[in-house]
Amino acid sequence: MRPREVTEQSEAATLHPRAARAADSRGRAESESPDDLRTAFQRDRDRIVHAKAFRRLTHKTQVFLAPEGDHYRTRLTHTLEVAQIARTIARALGLNEDLTEAIALAHDVGHPPFGHAGEAALDAAMNPWGGFRHDAQSLRVVERLEQRQRSDGSVGTGLNLTWEVLDGIAAHSKGLRDLEARSATEVLPTTLEGQLVRLADRIAYLHHDTDDAIRAGLIREAEVPQDVAATLGGTRGRWLDVIVRDIVDVGVEGEGVGLSPRIRQALNGLKDFLSRRVYLEAGATAEAARAHRMVRLLFDHLMSSPEALPPEIRSSGAGAPADESLARATCDFLAGMTDRFAIRTFVRLFVVQGLDGGVEPLSV
Ligand code: MG
Repeated sequence: MRPREVTEQSEAATLHPRAARAADSRGRAESESPDDLRTAFQRDRDRIVHAKAFRRLTHKTQVFLAPEGDHYRTRLTHTLEVAQIARTIARALGLNEDLTEAIALAHDVGHPPFGHAGEAALDAAMNPWGGFRHDAQSLRVVERLEQRQRSDGSVGTGLNLTWEVLDGIAAHSKGLRDLEARSATEVLPTTLEGQLVRLADRIAYLHHDTDDAIRAGLIREAEVPQDVAATLGGTRGRWLDVIVRDIVDVGVEGEGVGLSPRIRQALNGLKDFLSRRVYLEAGATAEAARAHRMVRLLFDHLMSSPEALPPEIRSSGAGAPADESLARATCDFLAGMTDRFAIRTFVRLFVVQGLDGGVEPLSV
C-alpha cells in the first residue's frame, strides 16, 4: 500500500466520526490524479507553504508595526501560532490535523500590509465596489492570484485547493466579536476543522496581543483584569494550556467545537480589555495614521496610472465593469504588498530624491 492509502485508512479507522476525511473530500475545481505519498489535504498544506503570498507574511504587520522591534508578532508568526494551537486540539479531539493545518496556514494570506490600518485604508478605498475584507482576499489569493504548475508543465490560475480548505479560509474570521457569537449573517465553516481554526485564530491573537502590548509598554501585566487572569490560570505562561485543555474537555458536541462558558466569559473579558486599552491605542498612533494615508495615496495614484501595475496583476479584476476591474486589480496589488515593499514603492513614487531638488517622475 502507498503512504497516502495508509494515511487514508488510518483516518477512516481512528478519526472522530464527524472529522473530515481526505478520502471523502468534495474535491477540487479542476480534477487531479491523486498523489501516492500525500493525501489531498497534505498536498493543499504544501501548496500553501510554497505560495509567494505565504512567504510575504514574514514582512506584514500583525498589530504592532513591524519596524518597531524584532520580538513582536508578524503575520507569519501569528499564522504559525494559530496552526500550532489548532493542531494540538485537532489531534486530541481526533479531528483531521492535515486539514486543520492547511486552513490555519492559509487563513491570513490575503492580509494587507500594516495590520488593521492597512485593512481599514483599503476598505475605505474600495467602498464604491463593496469594500475590502482580508478573509475574502485570502480566498482570492488562493483561487485567482497565485499560480501553480500542473504536472504537464502548463500554468494554472489559483492553487486548485480542495473544497474543505477553501470553505475554512472563507469563513475563518469576521473580526473582533464575542467568542460565542453566531449571528444570523455569520456563516460558520462547514467542517469542524474550519471551526477549530476560527477559534484558534481568536485565542492566538488575544494571547499574543496581550504579550506584545506589555512588551510595547501599552499595558502592564498587573492591569489585566484579575478575574480574567485568575480564570485563565494566573500567570500568562499558563493561559494557552488552560484554554486548549478546556476546548479538549468540552469535546465535539452539538454544533461543533467550543469553549466552556467559564473560559469563554474570561476570554470575552480579555477581548473587551484589549479593545479598550490596546487596539484603540495601537490604531491611533501617528505611525498607524501614516500607514493609512500611505496606502490610500498609493491606491489613488495607481488608479490614475494603471500602467504602473505589474502586468500579471493588471487583469486580475477581469470580468467586472472597467472601473471596478481596475480598482480590484489595484487592491490586489496593494493587499499583496509587504510593509517594506509598500514603503519602498511609496518612497519611489512620492519622495523627493537627490540634492538638486528634482522630484522623481511619478512612475514605477
Ligand atoms: Mg488570523
